[in-house]
Amino acid sequence: MTYFIDHITKKIHRQRFAGDLCGFLTTPIEKREFTASQDYIKRLEENDVFTICPYCQSVQLLTEKVHPMSDKFL
Ligand SMILES: [Zn+2]
Repeated sequence: MTYFIDHITKKIHRQRFAGDLCGFLTTPIEKREFTASQDYIKRLEENDVFTICPYCQSVQLLTEKVHPMSDKFL
C-alpha cells in the first residue's frame, strides 16, 4: 500500500484509490509526498495534524459527470 500525503490540505490518501473527490489537484508537486511506510503514516496521524482522507478508503464511485471517458472502459 502506497500512501500519498498532501502537505497543503494535511490529508493522507491511499494512492491507489485517490481520485477527483480528494481535492489534491491544486496541490503543487513539491507539496506531495509518497510513502509506503506505515510507521511514518502512523506518526503523522498521531500528531493530530494530518487526517486520513475519507474519499479514498475504497474505490470511488465513478460517475459519467466526473469521468466522461469511463464508457470506454466498461
Ligand atoms: Zn483521498
